[in-house]
Amino acid sequence: MVREPSVERSDVESVEDYGEHKEVLRRDFWYSCAYCTRTELETRAKGFEIDHYVPISIAPELKHSYANLMWSCGWCNGKKLDLHPPEEAQREGIMFFRPDEHHELDHFTVEADGTIEGLTKCGVFTVEMLELDRDAMNKLRRLREELGTGVASMRMGIRTLRGINLDSLPVDGRMHLLRSLTAAAKMADDLEATWQQLLVNLSKSEDIDPDPAAGAGQKRRKATLDELRAQHPGKWRGREYSRDQKSERTRKTS
Ligand SMILES: [Zn+2]
Repeated sequence: MVREPSVERSDVESVEDYGEHKEVLRRDFWYSCAYCTRTELETRAKGFEIDHYVPISIAPELKHSYANLMWSCGWCNGKKLDLHPPEEAQREGIMFFRPDEHHELDHFTVEADGTIEGLTKCGVFTVEMLELDRDAMNKLRRLREELGTGVASMRMGIRTLRGINLDSLPVDGRMHLLRSLTAAAKMADDLEATWQQLLVNLSKSEDIDPDPAAGAGQKRRKATLDELRAQHPGKWRGREYSRDQKSERTRKTS
């Protein structure tokens, strides 16, 4: 089964400055992070940024190209920075997930407890580099799962009841059903609002309370990156590129 990516990019005119794409980018990305899927609401819009999938330091010619822009939360953009696997590693599938080309279910699996695992090299790389398996994200996914399922099954129940042929019911039953449906719809709305509020509060707490396992995640991230760099000794960061250039300039001038 070929799955369609969840992000379909709008056709846009080319612009002088990529910042002009911000509004259409937000909309195309469903107001959520390209990498960890947190919504603007869940992070209280804190730190959402335009990320360049191929970093500017590596491909300055793509700086204003809409196809290279991703809507990203501050956390993911901060972890990604100008990290970009070299061509050779990408050919093996080692790359950041991108929702405009890949489908989540092909690359990740989420357990009922909210933990996430990469199914492919792309999935594993993205989880490890962006620390998508950190405690706060596991909690967020678990809550989404539990509450989302609750709301969805409630709405499904309401839709099923609405499908009942009212003519087949006695008048009393009809009135009772209509009243119940109205009450149920209101409850589903309330539940959804509560759900959103819970998710917002949870995301907020990540900013205040440091994750006790954060150090371990960072260590694991570094170890994985060191290992990958040993396997694929290309340029992994644009910054190294500039540093090389700089040292070359220094050599030339000295
Ligand atoms: Zn994110």
